[in-house]
Formats: sequence, C-alpha cells, structure tokens
Amino acid sequence: MNMSPQLRLPIYLDHHATTPVDPRVLETMIPFFTQMFGNAASKDHAFGREAHRAVEAARAIIGRSINARPQDICFTSGATESANLAIKGIFHAGGASPQHFITVVTEHPAVLDSFRRIESEGAEVTCLPVDGQGILDPKQIADAIRPHTKMVSVMAANNEIGVLQPLKEIGAICRERSVLFMTDATQALGKIALDVQALNVHLLACSAHKIYGPKGIGVLYCRRSSPKISLRPIIDGGGHERGLRSGTLNVPGIVGFAKAIEVSLGEMKTEQARLRELRDTLFQALRQEIPDLKLNGHPDHRLAGNLNVCIPGIVNESLILALADDIAFSAGSACTTAAADPSHVLKALGLSSAEVNASVRFGLGRSTNAAEVQHAALVIVEQVAKLRRLAFG
Ligand SMILES: *Cc1c(COP(=O)(O)O)cnc(C)c1O
Repeated sequence: MNMSPQLRLPIYLDHHATTPVDPRVLETMIPFFTQMFGNAASKDHAFGREAHRAVEAARAIIGRSINARPQDICFTSGATESANLAIKGIFHAGGASPQHFITVVTEHPAVLDSFRRIESEGAEVTCLPVDGQGILDPKQIADAIRPHTKMVSVMAANNEIGVLQPLKEIGAICRERSVLFMTDATQALGKIALDVQALNVHLLACSAHKIYGPKGIGVLYCRRSSPKISLRPIIDGGGHERGLRSGTLNVPGIVGFAKAIEVSLGEMKTEQARLRELRDTLFQALRQEIPDLKLNGHPDHRLAGNLNVCIPGIVNESLILALADDIAFSAGSACTTAAADPSHVLKALGLSSAEVNASVRFGLGRSTNAAEVQHAALVIVEQVAKLRRLAFG
C-alpha cells in the first residue's frame, strides 16, 4: 500500500488558501521579468509599448472570461484590495447622504472588515444570516433592501465550506430593485461559469493565486457603463487604471493571471469532474471508518474540490499538527488564523464551539490524485482513532 510513485509527502490539501503557480503560467511570465520588462505606462518607446500590449491582451482575456468589457477590468494587488476598493470606494463616492449596504455573515474578512470600516464611518450595514448548510435565501435580500440601499455583496463560493450562493436569483432581485450587486468570486473563478451580464453583477473581486497564478495580483471588475459606477480610489498617484488604482502595473503578474484563467477555463469541465470524484472518494473513505463524521455546508451546492467536515471528539489543531508530515490541510481559513478566532463561517451554520474546533477543511486541486486521497484517508482515520483513545481513555 502507498507504494505509488506519485506519492510525495506531505500532500498538499489546502488549495483554498493558495495554489502553486502552474508551469504553463510561469513559462508565460518569465520573459516579462527579464526581456520585456518595460513599464506599461511608458508609451513613448518600444519597451513600454510592448508591456502595454501584453497588459491589454491580458485584460481582454480576463474580461472575456467573465463576459465583461476589457475597460471594466482594473488590476489590483489581490482580492483583498479589490474588495476594499469596491466597498470603501462606493461608500466614499456616495457623499453625505444615508447609504445602506447588505452582505452575509459568511463572507471573507476582506469583505466583512471593509464593511466594518465604512460602518464606523457612518454607513448602515445589514449582515444577513445563512441556513444550516451555509446558503443565503435570496428572499432575505429582497426583504432587507431599503430606499437608500446602495449595494448588495454576496460571495460566489465560500473559502471554508465551498458553498455556492444563488447569484442568479440575487442578481435578479438587485436588477428589479435598482441596487448594485458585488460578488467576491475569488474561489469561484475558473471553477464555475461566471457571466457578469447574465448574473447582473456590477462589481467582482478575484485573485490569481487561487487559480494557479502568482500571488500579489488581483482584479476588480467595475462597470463603467449601464450603470456607470463611480468609486473613490484608495491609492492615489499617476492615475493608472483610469484613475482607479495608481501604481506601476505588475506586468508579469497580469500576464500570468490571464494565462492562469485560460488554463483553468480550458480544463474546467474535466478538472472539476475529476476533483468531485476524488473529493467524494475522500469523504466516503472517511465516513466509512468515522461514522459520526459530519459534512459542513451544502452537499451539492459546493465547489468540487472542497470538503469540510466535523470529526466529533477531536481538536482540529491537534489532528493537523499530528499529521503535519503527511498532509497539509487546515482548520478553516488561512485569512483569519492571524487572529486565531474560531471560524465565523462554521459558527454561522449553527455549529457549537466544540463542533467548530473539531472541524477541518480539505482543498483538493490540480496536483491531487487517487494515491494521495487514499493515503490521506488512511492517516486521518488512524490519527482520529489515536486522538479519540487519548481523549476517552
Ligand atoms: C483568498 C480570498 C480572498 C483574498 O484574496 P487575496 O488575493 O489573497 O487578497 C478574498 N476572498 C476569498 C473568498 C478568498 O478565498
């Protein structure tokens, strides 16, 4: 058993936190560090024009991937900055009149903390709950909209439990009520179809490093027509990105992001089917040996590569530490570990503190194979039995 040549330890099962750069992406990026190093804003000479052309080609690819116009794609340093720019930018452009925003308790901290910030500056923010499986009922959005509601922000796919929110229904409500609709699509991009026109999305945040692109490059899609959305920039400077985000463009990162999207979309159907099968295999293998194991989040409306389970009687940190030589996985989000808070997402599903602390997240990805899943299941089952013996006896 486990003599498979593909098996190299530790196995990476934390693809929601970040992903390795795909070799095809890296290959596309490398010339832009050394030979084509121009500043995309230096349009007076060939070096700058070459970089500018590469950036605009990437912008077109990224735009097309979500059915957006290229001029509505703004490059940032990542999804955190994109969410900050969208939320603070809308509020600060709105002037002194009352402004109301609607979001959801299970959002990423980049969104929740931006809303908290503008709330401290006078915005009204409604944070809607989710059901026991992590899904938001669109009817709640309809009920929460007030005359001065400016924007609704609901993530496409959750980074902890992989749950997919009903964007289409929410977008339709926003269209009917003339409210802006923003989505944090960082975990969804390249994994499910995203069409900002069909979904009536006005602002969308995403990031390259979650889809096998480099870290430090992200996008904010922001409509400049029908309707024209005004944002007050956070970073002032040379007026790059149509004044939305100043600073010299990260040309290799931008080129890499576009390539990462192309690769992901090209392989989306087969890769998501493959991941779903591997994920289901892992879940079945665990459940067979740990019958009281519970799935967190909706069983079907979730990302193919996500598995989040509660293993009663264990402490997640102990399990993760004990298995560190074999598997890299996590207790929830990498984004809040700095604060060491128990998952706000799992709490929102109604889990008790003990259940939250007994929950672990697996993120399967491009490198994951059957041998890895088999080994992971084996060592988890062994270790859970060991930890339970310690706890009970
Ligand atoms: C990772 C992540 C972010 C933050 O993206 P960065 O590019 O790392 O800043 C935001 N939202 C979600 C859902 C994420 O998974």
